Amino acid sequence: MYLSTRGNISDISFQKAVLMGLATDGGLLVPAELPDLSSSLSELRDLSYPDLAVRIMDIFTDKDIPVGDLQKIVYLSYESFDTPEITPIVKPDSLYIMELFHGPTLAFKDVALQFLGNLFDYILEKSNTKLNIVGATSGDTGSAAIYGVRGKDNMDIFIMHPEGRVSPIQKRQMTTVGDANVHNIAVKGTFDDTQKLLKDLFNDLELRETYNLAAVNSVNWARVLAQIVYYFYAYFRVHEKTGAETVRFCVPTGNFGNIFAGYLAWRMGLQIEKLILASNENDILADFFQHGVYKKGEVYSTYSPSMDIQVASNFERYLYYRNGENPAEVNKLMQQFYQTGKIEISGQDPVFAADRATNSQTLETIRRYYQDFNYLLDPHTAVGVNVAEKFKSGDVPTVCLATAHPAKFPEAIRQAVGKDCAHHPGIDRILELPSECTTLPADKQKIAEFIANNAN
Ligand SMILES: *Cc1c(COP(=O)(O)O)cnc(C)c1O
Repeated sequence: MYLSTRGNISDISFQKAVLMGLATDGGLLVPAELPDLSSSLSELRDLSYPDLAVRIMDIFTDKDIPVGDLQKIVYLSYESFDTPEITPIVKPDSLYIMELFHGPTLAFKDVALQFLGNLFDYILEKSNTKLNIVGATSGDTGSAAIYGVRGKDNMDIFIMHPEGRVSPIQKRQMTTVGDANVHNIAVKGTFDDTQKLLKDLFNDLELRETYNLAAVNSVNWARVLAQIVYYFYAYFRVHEKTGAETVRFCVPTGNFGNIFAGYLAWRMGLQIEKLILASNENDILADFFQHGVYKKGEVYSTYSPSMDIQVASNFERYLYYRNGENPAEVNKLMQQFYQTGKIEISGQDPVFAADRATNSQTLETIRRYYQDFNYLLDPHTAVGVNVAEKFKSGDVPTVCLATAHPAKFPEAIRQAVGKDCAHHPGIDRILELPSECTTLPADKQKIAEFIANNAN
């Protein structure tokens, strides 16, 4: 069963939690209880990635989905990856790198959004209902969400992006799929404007109900759940190779969704020695884990745009666990944050560490890895690698999470290594395809009309 971090929603089933996305009391949904897997690790360590995913997810569905059905959903979701390992682990130098970019849009978000798309499909088919997914994106989420649901009969997807403010490749990934259920909207405004529109659309309860609107952003519980799996998978692979009993992870972080899944794995008994949070120049979270102060600042544009975020939407889930799973305390802190733009917590977290990498350190790390080890890091991964190198690990192996393929960010790669060497056939192919997109003003009424006219 699931409950809200703010305490006014409880006893929600797994399927309902997935459909609800954001809790209707303004909080985020979390499981009522976390399992302790520390004594069952040996049963899990030899499973293939999809089988490990089924075992872990099954614990969290409360039998709301029969395990045979869950297995079908999971197998189907990971068929679209280009390697049977799903998240392979490589070792160009002393750090391990877990490549999370082998899905259809070449970013780690595919690991969760391929699953979420098929999960929605399953739930809708069982209940004979239809859904309209609405999302806002500054880049990677939009394409991963679109690839998760393209061509499915019982849902349409509407993705808004700020016109002219996503990279040309990101735009092409979203607008070249050609499926009738995919609708791209270029909003005349900034990313903040599009996020505000999204909120306004969901707060229009009549619209929300009439068109059965659903959300795919990173607060959806199913996304966190799917991401827990690869922390276990990486731990087992590194343990196999080195015999190490404990492993350290370093995660390039924006909205705190990816690393939060690692935190849950730690709480579930996986022997994680440290979770290193890596920020770019938008370092509100690094500041928090270093000094205990979470304070909103201005957003800077960097070479790692998917981490150009100040207020991390999953942070509230962390506050819930950090404060002894006490919703009253979370409420107090969130109110404080809305009023003052700041949260302060005393004491050190037992597992998190954090630091940041600048734009020039990011490029320097890409260049060095390419020259010395013939391995191309994407700029987000480079932030993580740079930060991981700032911590001495002794004998503990470090796994850096590679969150995107370098071919998604050719401009940064060119800047770093001085030539155009980041390619992937999936990206080269979409450069040739026709693209479809509707441009609309940043006006809620106009967007609502467009949704009404095209809804499933
Ligand atoms: C979304 C994204 C991130 C940030 O992940 P969070 O879960 O938001 O912390 C990092 N790198 C890439 C390439 C991404 O697409």
